[in-house]
Amino acid sequence: MSGPSTPVSHSIDAEGIGWITFDDPAGRANIFNPATQAALRSAVLALAAEPVRAVVVLSAKEKIFIAGADLGWLAGLADDQAATQAARAGQELFGLLAGFKVPVVCAIHGACAGGGYELALACTWRIASEARETVIGLPEVGLGLIPGWGGCTRLPRLIGARAAVEHILKAALVPAAAARAAGLVDELVPAAELLARARAAARRLADEGAPVRPVPDPVGPDFFSDQRQLALTRRRGQPAPLAVLEAVEKSAGLPLAAALDLEATLFGGVAAGEIAKNFIHVFFLKEAARKLTVDGWFPPVADAPPPKPFRTIGVIGAGVMGSGIAQWCAMHGFGVILCDSSKEAIERGVAVIRELFAEAVKRGKVTGDQAHRMTGGIGITTSLEDFEICDLVIEAVVEDVAAKQKVFAELSRLVTPDCLLASNTSALPIEELAATAVNPGRVVGLHFFNPVSRMPLVELVLSPHTTRATAERALAFVKALGKSAVICKSAPGFLVTRVLFFYLNEACRLWEQGVPAEVIDRAMRDWGWPMGPLRLIDEVGVDVTDFIYGEMQHYFPDRFVRSAICGRLLAAGLKGRKNGAGAGFYDYTDGRETLNPALADFSPAAAVAMAAAVIQELLNGVLIAETRRVLAEGVLRTADEADFALLMGAGFPAIRGGLLHSAKG
Ligand code: NAD
Repeated sequence: MSGPSTPVSHSIDAEGIGWITFDDPAGRANIFNPATQAALRSAVLALAAEPVRAVVVLSAKEKIFIAGADLGWLAGLADDQAATQAARAGQELFGLLAGFKVPVVCAIHGACAGGGYELALACTWRIASEARETVIGLPEVGLGLIPGWGGCTRLPRLIGARAAVEHILKAALVPAAAARAAGLVDELVPAAELLARARAAARRLADEGAPVRPVPDPVGPDFFSDQRQLALTRRRGQPAPLAVLEAVEKSAGLPLAAALDLEATLFGGVAAGEIAKNFIHVFFLKEAARKLTVDGWFPPVADAPPPKPFRTIGVIGAGVMGSGIAQWCAMHGFGVILCDSSKEAIERGVAVIRELFAEAVKRGKVTGDQAHRMTGGIGITTSLEDFEICDLVIEAVVEDVAAKQKVFAELSRLVTPDCLLASNTSALPIEELAATAVNPGRVVGLHFFNPVSRMPLVELVLSPHTTRATAERALAFVKALGKSAVICKSAPGFLVTRVLFFYLNEACRLWEQGVPAEVIDRAMRDWGWPMGPLRLIDEVGVDVTDFIYGEMQHYFPDRFVRSAICGRLLAAGLKGRKNGAGAGFYDYTDGRETLNPALADFSPAAAVAMAAAVIQELLNGVLIAETRRVLAEGVLRTADEADFALLMGAGFPAIRGGLLHSAKG
């Protein structure tokens, strides 16, 4: 038996079954890097030299089988050749398992991702525990990579090319039951029985031999050309999906070794490329956000108790944001009381909440029963007096300093001294709003984005008075909601609103100078943005945009040269796409999306030609300059945090790795 400090150990039991156990002493996860690979190789070779009947591979970790390859190591591979070589080495290692002279059973409990599942694919039989933490799949494409340790080759041979391509391109980890239904694993068992059932499978296979699996039906070329078209539109600019399609299509007629060789070459082509490096960079930004603390913002404290969690959240304002926040809090187990000034406004808010829950049921986030119970559990009121039982109250009333100050003054009188007060303002400095609060130390900004159910970011905004305890509780709350936080010092527009609306305003100014809307939008889409800036204004709402332009002009009078077009569109009743409105820069009648012909009535006389590269440089330049100013003013602590916020809050394209990250290059 190998030593306890190795990430992979092996043993042989009295029945002659060999056990290979992953348990990396370095952390809570097992991941593949050269050390793990070397340890696995030793374990496999040691067992191969013994008279074992069968082998079982398992993990001793609580929540992770194998989380995949070490991305830091992958990102450091020098070039295509090094990446191809890394793929070949992994394939060869798993080839030892696939070529074992006795059956190999893979017993999966916890996350089994990427290289972890490729290891499983090289085994004879796969058993998964039914536990919630058992999720299985090949997420490589989401990181700009392709499965290169046999995934592109072995999965189509197991479940067919069509299902394999769909699974790999989705790049998602699926729960164990779905993995069983899709044929990714052979058996699904209660977690407590995993070892016993793995042992039973090992005995059975040792006696009966490996199962004979049916050869999946071949897939015609039309499937691949359709998928290629989809990849070119949905995953624009990304080489990995195309490499997956090439690997699966071409390997269909090849012997295993040749197919693996092709897969390794294609892996090398994408893994050392800029896009993969950018995606991996974004992955690390997300990891850092998960570990975010308030430490950089306050003097350190020794042995502070963990922040006291909230139980009941009050939400004021049942409009677009208030109802979204109330629904999201209820779905995450918090008690919720929703207040608006009139019964009609509350009824509208509750109708929105019902729709949001219906959508959550459709997406499998909650069951119909849970949604019904959670909706019924939201208390509604027109009186702030009902907030005395809340631990946190979030105001989402209209964006008006006086209205918000009035709310804070009243709340200060009514809630318990321990209750935190938060504003969902998009741009107003928190200290201005908190000026009326009795204890401004407990006031914080929690800037959720619209739509709350889809946008992963919350800007956590600290006024000069916000205490460390307030910030810690607010941060723990954001994490409990499954959102990512970025911490900002209070300043007009914080980061995302400020930077984004400087950018949108510049796009409007270009349009006013005669550059056609479709030329502006196409240029930015070509650069990687999911939609162009003028199309984005329709999505945000022409009304909201114009209002925020007003705020930006107020706070940055020297630099924000406000464009007039949004005000003019609004005056003509063109509000964009929000709230069922049918037109803005574009027309959305009958579910189609065309440039709004009415724009011609507003446009300057002569159209101006401008090259896409010039537009991109100009608009990205505005984003970069404003973000650098925000950092110089100390509104955010690091360039990485700013990049993360714009990726999560403004739709900045992940393919570029981050705004300032890409500006460095
Ligand atoms: P909204 O107009 O849809 O809703 C505001 C609601 O507040 C209305 O139902 C109104 O009746 C209610 N209200 C006003 N004064 C009140 C009071 N004193 N007591 C109780 N209820 C009161 O506005 P919204 O779009 O949801 O925006 C709310 C806040 O969220 C604003 O500060 C806005 O800047 C911010 N925000 C908006 C967005 C967005 O895209 N809409 C995104 C992020 C943040």
